[in-house]
Amino acid sequence: MNLRPILLASLAGAFSLAHAQLAHNYDLLDVNWTISFDERQDTIAGDVTNTIRPNDGAIQVAFHEGKLTIQSITVNDSSAHWTVNGEQLVVDLPAPARKDQSLKVRISYTGHPEAGVYFVDQRRAFPAKTSMVYTQGEAEDTRYWLPTYDEPDDKATVEGHIVVPHGYFALSNGKLLDVEHRGNLDVFHWKLEQPVSTYLISFVAGPYERGSEHWEALPVDYYVPTGLSTWGEAAFGGSAEKVKLYSEVTGVRYPYAKFAQTAVGDFPFGGMENVTAVTQTIRALYPPKEAPLADAADLVLHELAHQWFGDLVTCRDWSHIWLNEGFATFMPHFWHRKHDGEDFYQNMRMETLQGGWFGMEGHRRPMVETHWNVPMDIFDGNAYPGGAARMFVLMGMVGEDTFWKGVNTYLREFAYKPATTEDFFNVMSRVSGKDLDAFRKQWFYQTGLPHLTVIKSGTTLTVSQRENRPGVPQTMFDLDLDVWALNGGRWHFMKLPLHDMQATLDLGDNANGQVLVDPMLKYLTKIDYQPALSSNDVYAMWTHTSNPAVRAQLVNIAGGLPDVGALTWRLFPAEENPFWRENMSGALSPDHPAELIALTKDPNPKIARNAADILGRGSSTPEIVQRLLEIWHSGDRDRMRNVALNSLLQLTKDSALAEEAWKTDSYDDRFRSTALRFFAQNDKDRARQLALEAVGEQHTEYLRENAIGILGELKDKPGEKLVFGTLVRFLSDPGHGTKRIAVGAVQQYGDPAAVPYLEKLTDYSMYQIREPAKRAIAELSKAKK
Ligand SMILES: [Zn+2]
Repeated sequence: MNLRPILLASLAGAFSLAHAQLAHNYDLLDVNWTISFDERQDTIAGDVTNTIRPNDGAIQVAFHEGKLTIQSITVNDSSAHWTVNGEQLVVDLPAPARKDQSLKVRISYTGHPEAGVYFVDQRRAFPAKTSMVYTQGEAEDTRYWLPTYDEPDDKATVEGHIVVPHGYFALSNGKLLDVEHRGNLDVFHWKLEQPVSTYLISFVAGPYERGSEHWEALPVDYYVPTGLSTWGEAAFGGSAEKVKLYSEVTGVRYPYAKFAQTAVGDFPFGGMENVTAVTQTIRALYPPKEAPLADAADLVLHELAHQWFGDLVTCRDWSHIWLNEGFATFMPHFWHRKHDGEDFYQNMRMETLQGGWFGMEGHRRPMVETHWNVPMDIFDGNAYPGGAARMFVLMGMVGEDTFWKGVNTYLREFAYKPATTEDFFNVMSRVSGKDLDAFRKQWFYQTGLPHLTVIKSGTTLTVSQRENRPGVPQTMFDLDLDVWALNGGRWHFMKLPLHDMQATLDLGDNANGQVLVDPMLKYLTKIDYQPALSSNDVYAMWTHTSNPAVRAQLVNIAGGLPDVGALTWRLFPAEENPFWRENMSGALSPDHPAELIALTKDPNPKIARNAADILGRGSSTPEIVQRLLEIWHSGDRDRMRNVALNSLLQLTKDSALAEEAWKTDSYDDRFRSTALRFFAQNDKDRARQLALEAVGEQHTEYLRENAIGILGELKDKPGEKLVFGTLVRFLSDPGHGTKRIAVGAVQQYGDPAAVPYLEKLTDYSMYQIREPAKRAIAELSKAKK
């Protein structure tokens, strides 16, 4: 763990002077930038004017920049002296700053960036046939293409000019003011009137086609590479409705001049909430016929939610990242509640609560975590579902109306400003009239979650929140638990306040029935029952409730039962609710092949897909193979065909079929990856041969990345270094996805001879490559000893 550079400032004396950082001593007011690029060289040339208001008496100011070549700097048009100190660009002011004086610091620069801006060649942009150039700032990568203040706590208005070849479109933040034609170049001029954190500044450029909608007067657009407009509409169409819903739910109207989305290749994330100009992975696009098996709604809903949570109000520093990511995970539930109903909503909420639990299991830390190595280390299961799950707990405590009133107040009071966890809770306490201090401390400042053990013995129910796992410290939560018992065909409702490590309840007659603790999913907990609930218990409770939250809780419990498949077969045939029917279809066991074959023709494509998938986990019969072959040969969705293919390969181990799949195109090139995975499990020689071919540039990035990953699991033949040589070569590949996956594959391959090649990446700007490279070196060096 390292302290952050900004914190090091006060300790500078203890460290080498070269790394002493200048404190942030100004208010950033405006960032006015111009950029041009050369796609053959992967280079940029830029010019940015940062308008700042320095603290009274400041003699130097510092911006962030990473590995750029600074050509010149002026302060209010007079040339200025500067020095580069690590990732700080320190500019000497011509005279000590006077109170309230604003200065224009203009920086001209060139660069060949490894991060921040990405050049994607058309061969790497599949399914696009055109190239693209785009930026990605979060967390702290804006500095690799734009020298400015690059931490989230200081917001500025933004004006961008992107110089592109004629025929390109360039999307950026805010409103398009004009497009200037300069010979065979066009300059796109965008302006954002509202202040934002600089990690949200972005552009995307390339041959793009536009699709457009409106919500009232607000343009809601999407831009996809030329030729993919129907795919763009499938993925991003209907976004205007979502803008409307979030405006209504939050009570804060969408605050900017437009909402737009683009799709780009070789993107390191699913999507990025760049303000008014969301960048999405090109893998979100799909041909319309693939719906509903392919669906981008949740990606759109997440990035759109960030326009309020993250962009309008921003975490003051990354330790409060849940304010961005927790809310962006929380908001989509309310779209689904309206459009897919209460059952969908409650089941999604249960999954988010589960995600929050596993987030803590995977990375035990307080929600407000001030120690990390790189900011992205805490963009984890705590920040995303963990943050969302805690908002459900809070909403249950203060009531829904009050909760939304509080959110509305928070958004209004901190609009265009940074905020902290304390800011949020101060607003919530004020609006709800409740003292939320203990809640805030327990759920946000201590590590761990309530892990409940429920023991039923005689008529006594004992609930304890003790941690009995070695190395896991005790944590205490105040929980007002509901306890429901199904007794004699009727539900009985009881309360069990748990304000200590343990509490008991006398069940009386209800001890004869089934007992559920926290039936309505009020809390983010894990509950272990002793004795364990059986499938008969779950069956009885399911058939006596249609309450969506209780059903979601029962689905959660059923998921942990060894005989969940058999239980599901008892419930599924009689289930009439279409949501639960679809949900259950994924948990059926493979031992009813005739019924499953029939379900592969279900009018709900998701049920049909689940059935085809489950058939592959059982034993083979001629009827199953015949039906799956029918789907593989004539199914109309590639996604369905791929599931059938995978099941067939599992059942038949038929190499000839895998060879056929290897020759078959699909919209996302999935069949080849499935074939390759089959060979990796069943015929390593053939897998090696195909994977070595699949990494070639004539193949799609989807396949190439999968093939590199699979090569890491394979070994070279004795005396050969083909696999090793290929993996090492990809450590310097121009593709970022391929390079990133090669780092992991080299580590898995396990030959310490790769260390010198990995060492070239330990200073790489893109942390998704640099940090895994360091870990791989550590692992391989261990193997050597
Ligand atoms: Zn997000």
